[in-house]
Amino acid sequence: MTDTATLEPVTKPASEHFDVLIVGAGISGIGGAYHLSEQCPEKSFVILETQDGFGGTWRTHTYPGIRSDSDLYTFGYRFKPWTGAPIASADKILDYMGEVIDDNDLDRHIRYNHAIASATWSTEDHQWTLKVARTDADTGTSETGYFTANFLWMCQGYYRHEEGYTPEWPGMEEFAGQIVHPQRWPDDLDYTDKEVVVIGSGATAATLIPAMAPDVSHITMLQRSPTYFATGRNHNELADMLRELEIDEEWIHEIVRRKILHDQNLITNMAFDDPAALREQLFAGIKEILGEDYEMSPHFTPNYDPWRQRLAFVPDGDLFHGLASGKASVVTDEIESFTETGITLTSGETLAADIIVTATGFNMNVLGDINFTIDGAPLNFHDRVGYRGAMFTDIPNMAWVFGYFRASWTLRADLIGDFVCRLLQHMDERGATMVTPRLRPEDADMELNPWVDPENFNPGYIQRALHLMPKSGDRQPWIHSQDYWMERKVLPEADLDDGCLVFE
Ligand SMILES: Cc1cc2nc3c(=O)[nH]c(=O)nc-3n(C[C@H](O)[C@H](O)[C@H](O)COP(=O)(O)OP(=O)(O)OC[C@H]3O[C@@H](n4cnc5c(N)ncnc54)[C@H](O)[C@@H]3O)c2cc1C
Repeated sequence: MTDTATLEPVTKPASEHFDVLIVGAGISGIGGAYHLSEQCPEKSFVILETQDGFGGTWRTHTYPGIRSDSDLYTFGYRFKPWTGAPIASADKILDYMGEVIDDNDLDRHIRYNHAIASATWSTEDHQWTLKVARTDADTGTSETGYFTANFLWMCQGYYRHEEGYTPEWPGMEEFAGQIVHPQRWPDDLDYTDKEVVVIGSGATAATLIPAMAPDVSHITMLQRSPTYFATGRNHNELADMLRELEIDEEWIHEIVRRKILHDQNLITNMAFDDPAALREQLFAGIKEILGEDYEMSPHFTPNYDPWRQRLAFVPDGDLFHGLASGKASVVTDEIESFTETGITLTSGETLAADIIVTATGFNMNVLGDINFTIDGAPLNFHDRVGYRGAMFTDIPNMAWVFGYFRASWTLRADLIGDFVCRLLQHMDERGATMVTPRLRPEDADMELNPWVDPENFNPGYIQRALHLMPKSGDRQPWIHSQDYWMERKVLPEADLDDGCLVFE
């Protein structure tokens, strides 16, 4: 390198700067923005979102019947009462989020059509620089833009929004009908009087089947292995009663949340203490619709204990009413191959199909598929250990919202919202501009575990991505716990000067 070259100024690209940059305008990102504006009103912030509107999951998924599988009293934010039926359609959830945005004037902070491609931390500057593809909604053309931020709040969810997970089966290209993944539902898909096979039996299949059954010729749920389903009315009796008594909606929201969480805790405890009893309880709900003598095996008897995968709630038993009507049926078998006219199963049976829906799940994305570097070195999240399941070792000024599996995601988004705001205030009090979780000397030999314990929770999309995910430690504060009851006490009181968070 010549002297002249060394003297040449390094020009940094023009960028916009914010105190906090939130990635993603889903329920976590909008919640984060609310908490920031309430608890840290002096901080400047922006939300960058790839899509052309807010909602995340509830915008991406447009398949028939799309709805929540947990109740909106707890999936809703703690600060915004939910006033509808517990299980809600995507459009109702979007309306609710839209109200949060309007009520709190958050729209001015959101930049849609901004996909973050890379994020670079500079210890010299104590800030992140993000490279962003800005798409012009009218022309579809993209240009590169740059943002800098002191703190990065990752609210990008856990799966790739562009495409779902579809396994490769032999003969797929021979199939003459249409293959559709629920994550990319064609607006003009006409399934009237068609033979439809839905591969999978998770919450998505359980939603699609009753929604499509009235219009199709027949719809088959084809599963390799069964799922546990919980049935129940899509009403909350306590909420209905409190409304009759003209109690304020804020109170109703809080009381009903507590009751639901209390009941869910009993179920979770039962799943571990007496799984056989819980299993029978779940079966009883199904038998109420399909008949007392209905043989639960093989279609509804998973080979794992309840709650090791997400329990699919079937509001008003609609899936089972579809089965009882004869318009829908279940097949438990493995796919041998696709054929021109449908699917051949390992048993030798064939299923005729005009449309095959692959409700086979997600592709996890690790922190938004963003290319991260720390001081020029590429960042591999699998080398990092989580700090309270929300930050990572040796990654400064970053928090991540990863919600609960067994309880509503948003419960954790709210808890982490409070935690991040408290951390930002603490940094200001200490005059610090950099906070980094670092293992203490006594943590050096700590046993490192997968981000999610496969013995405890093991759906396919998590299993497929564990080798990419950060690790969890064997002691606090390095455990990613997934325990709402513990975290609701511990997170708000957590000592930020615990020797694990290093402030500079
Ligand atoms: C069909 C379905 C139903 C579900 N039902 C429930 C339920 O009932 N209860 C429950 O608790 N959980 C449910 N979940 C899990 C659900 O995804 C979460 O609860 C919650 O919606 C996640 O919110 P989020 O904001 O964290 O992430 P997401 O909803 O995934 O939103 C993330 C946003 O970040 C954006 N983004 C990602 N990467 C980038 C990038 N690089 N640059 C810019 N923007 C980016 C995405 O475009 C997206 O808009 C469901 C999931 C699915 C798929």
